[in-house]
Formats: sequence, structure tokens, C-alpha cells
Amino acid sequence: FAPWDEPDAVPLIQFKNVTKRFGDFTAIDDLTLDIYTREFFALLGPSGCGKTTMMRMLAGFETPTEGKILLSGQDIAPIPPNQRAVNMMFQSYALFPHLSVWENIAFGLKREGKDKDTIRARVDEMLRLTRLEKFASRKPHQISGGQRQRVALARSLAKAPKLLLLDEPLGALDKKLREETQFELMDIQEKTGTTFVIVTHDQEEAMTVASRVAVMDEGKLIQVATPPVIYEQPNSVYVADFIGDVTIFEGTVRKDGEHYRLDWAEGQPPLRVRSPASLRDGQTAYVAIRPEKVEIHHNRPDDHNVLRGKVVDIGYLGNLSTYHVELPGGRMIRAQNFNTERDTRQPFTWEDEVWVNWTETCGVLLER
Ligand code: ATP
Repeated sequence: FAPWDEPDAVPLIQFKNVTKRFGDFTAIDDLTLDIYTREFFALLGPSGCGKTTMMRMLAGFETPTEGKILLSGQDIAPIPPNQRAVNMMFQSYALFPHLSVWENIAFGLKREGKDKDTIRARVDEMLRLTRLEKFASRKPHQISGGQRQRVALARSLAKAPKLLLLDEPLGALDKKLREETQFELMDIQEKTGTTFVIVTHDQEEAMTVASRVAVMDEGKLIQVATPPVIYEQPNSVYVADFIGDVTIFEGTVRKDGEHYRLDWAEGQPPLRVRSPASLRDGQTAYVAIRPEKVEIHHNRPDDHNVLRGKVVDIGYLGNLSTYHVELPGGRMIRAQNFNTERDTRQPFTWEDEVWVNWTETCGVLLER
């Protein structure tokens, strides 16, 4: 499933040079983006980067100052919110407390004036989809938080929108339920074939559920790609740093045949990277390296990119441990080790003098 790679695929949603200003503040800055049918698309970025504004424009609560948004090829600007094939599910769920689960799900269909049989069939289908059959006659306060979340989802999908907008849909759930619910959301999205656009602060959530992720900053798209590409081939220090853990070295690039070297500190070995990037010899650049790519050893390994350091901090997570290793000159690097032995002792401890290294293909060379 990769319609974005198919030259003939027609996007469901097209942002065409969309700018949104509030007074003289630019919230969305000349943004162009295609989202395809059946995608589970995630908008990710720091607070204030414009995620909610994007959703509100899709839902029809805001209009672009400049540019166009097309839905199935049609400009949505003249279409009022309630007539768009778009629905929005809010974090608060906004369920009616005095109505049963069944009536909550039926609400939008009744308001549309659908006949009784159609409503019954559709609500029953939604109850089955979200596994809520047993709770149909309960009121929202008589079910759990996770079940309320499913009612809200069932209600938003009842009118069969082409596009469902989810604003922090799992924000109110605890970590374990949240992780379970992510898989349920993916399952429901796949079964209904509805296009989902989700806003989340939780980058792990975005990486788990999304077909593609858009990383935003100050009203601009910095990178739009599948989760593995965002993680393994970030296009900038900003994206590398925003998604997951990373250590970033700044230095001067030296070309070395098909390799690059980064001179990053006096008296330290240069870092070798293989990279498709074409950088100028002598320019400033960055090498980003993920902790799980960094190996840690008691003895010097025979490899490139070997640095000497000292363990100053250990984060124990059960399945793995993260070691903060201080390099000469005070630079820190993080290395992660899976705890595969059934042993409560850690292989490395505070103040251990260690060696860290990584394969040259694991470092990502970035220009900015
Ligand atoms: P968060 O993650 O905190 O919800 P966000 O990425 O969703 O943030 P938006 O709510 O889209 O950010 O806001 C983007 C910027 O536009 C912010 O700086 C916000 O203050 C500004 N903004 C949003 N709505 C308005 C408005 N109605 N009037 C003025 N400024 C606004």
C-alpha cells in the first residue's frame, strides 16, 4: 500500500499552497500536501506548529487565507462543515451523557433524517465494528474510558465519512490501554477503508499507526514519509532529533572516496559515514546516530567509528538498557543494549571505561 509512489494515484485531499494567517501571524506557511484514500496519516510536531489549524481547515472551522484545499478534486472552501464528507473526533469525545451508547452512535444519523431501519442496521454495524454490542444500552458514565473512546469512534464513523480527523484520540488513556487501542484503531481504519488523519504529540503513536507521517515546524512541512524512512533517513537534524533518541555530532566534512569523514573534535578519530548526500568538502555538517546502532564494549573492537568513553548514566527499561557514555571533552553519546541474559546484573556499570562503535552505514550524514 503506497499510493504516494504511484504516478496515477489521485489524492483524496490536496493542500495547494495553503497559507493561514491569524492577524499578522502566519500559522500555516505556503503548505502543499497530498493525502490518499485509505491512508492513516499522522501530523506530528511541537506545540504551536499548526497541526490543529490544518485539521480545522479540513473540517471547515477555518478557511485558508491563501491557497486551496481539495477533497476528491473539489475545492472545499464553499462547502459548510456539516456538508463535508469529513468528521472530526475530539479528545474529549463529547458524548451526550444522558444518551445511551446506542443513541449516541445513532445521533448524527437521526439528525440527517435517515429512516429507522437504516439507522438500526448502521448502528448495529458500528457496535460490532467497535466491539460494543454488550454496552449498547449503557450511559457513557457506566463504561470505561477505553469503551467511551470506542463509542466516540463509532459515532464519528456512523455517517461513513470519507475522511476522519482524530485530534489526540488516545490522549486520555493510560499507556497500556493506549497501546492496545492503537492496534484497534488501525484495525478499524483498515476494515472501514476510511482515510484517517491523526494529530498526536506522541511520536511513538504516530510511528505505530501511520502509513505516513508529516513532521511540521512553524507552519511548514519538514518531512513527509513512511515511519521507517522518517526514522532511518531523516532529512534534517530537526527531524532526527524530533523522532526518537539520537546523538548528533557537528563538524566539518571531508570527502574520502565514496565515504565522508566528519572531523568533529580535536584529537578524536573522524567519523566515517557512507551517504548518498552530496556535500562539499570542508562544509559544516552533522552525523546523527541512534542509540540502538551504537555498540558498547569493555575491549576495543576492530572497526571504524570507535570512541573511548566512560559510563555516566544508565537507564534500565527491562528489555533494554540505555547507557550515557561521556566522551573526552565532555561530549555525550547514548548506547543501547538489549538485556538478553536472564541476569539481574548489568554488563556495564557507572564509571566503567568503555568503547563505543557503530558501523559506518548506521550514521546519517545531514547538511542542516
Ligand atoms: P498544539 O500541539 O499545542 O495543539 P498545534 O500544532 O495544534 O499546537 P495550532 O493550534 O494549529 O498548533 O496553532 C498554530 C499557531 O497558530 C499557534 O501559534 C497558535 O497560537 C496560533 N493560532 C491558532 N488559532 C489562532 C487564532 N484563532 N487566533 C490567533 N492565533 C491562533
